[in-house]
Amino acid sequence: MSDANGQAWGMCAAFGCPLFGTMGSDGGWYCFCHAGKPSVFNDAITRELRENQIEVVDITLQIRRDSIRGGWSHAMRELRVALRQHPDGTSLAFSPKTDGNASAWLLRLERHLIQATADIGQQKRIASTVPTAQIIGPTHVSKHHPYGDGANA
Ligand SMILES: [Zn+2]
Repeated sequence: MSDANGQAWGMCAAFGCPLFGTMGSDGGWYCFCHAGKPSVFNDAITRELRENQIEVVDITLQIRRDSIRGGWSHAMRELRVALRQHPDGTSLAFSPKTDGNASAWLLRLERHLIQATADIGQQKRIASTVPTAQIIGPTHVSKHHPYGDGANA
């Protein structure tokens, strides 16, 4: 089942976003990364999630699925191995000591995703001194007239 945007039911309304739509924003359901962001940045946020954060994204989805069943699934074991490929894989791994349970770990992972996409869409300050190149082009007007034969009409 999908809506008019072609997104599967329950997923974020931003095109191609891999996360669940859990927050109402602008008349649609968006994930916690897309909610409240100007739609012009939707694709950049989706790209960050898919290209740089997919190991984290997959685990957050699996924690939510497993929480319905109670207990960690076999899929989760594989995803935890995959997380080691992520640059922050070690610090993002589940820690029984600091996380304690899956829902605390989920919060920590989702916070990581929010931070990873927070900079997208923020206006970068434009430097007050903009270096401009020299103007290259004709320095004098040519006497040659390309459309005339030289004779006066
Ligand atoms: Zn999203």
